[in-house]
Amino acid sequence: MLALEQVLEVRRLLDEGQLSRRAIAAATGVSRGSVGAIAKGERGLFGAPPVEPEVFRSAAAQRCPGCGGMVFLPCVLCEAVAHRQAVEGARAA
Ligand SMILES: [Zn+2]
Repeated sequence: MLALEQVLEVRRLLDEGQLSRRAIAAATGVSRGSVGAIAKGERGLFGAPPVEPEVFRSAAAQRCPGCGGMVFLPCVLCEAVAHRQAVEGARAA
């Protein structure tokens, strides 16, 4: 199925009226048949939902044992606090 983004981009370019259907097909990667169908209103403006990036699918937010915040581990805040303490410790010594 075409991605919703592609379908809406085809519709937008058709509405702009600057490009030929052939050029829109080439620019969006949608077949000329589908561009024609969208232009004539034979194909509805639906499509596959955007794909979630792998990084969000593989990692769920978790409770940080350090600060208690809901974060994607490792917790950047705790790393920053640890780094600052290390820097200040080095300065004091
Ligand atoms: Zn934390």
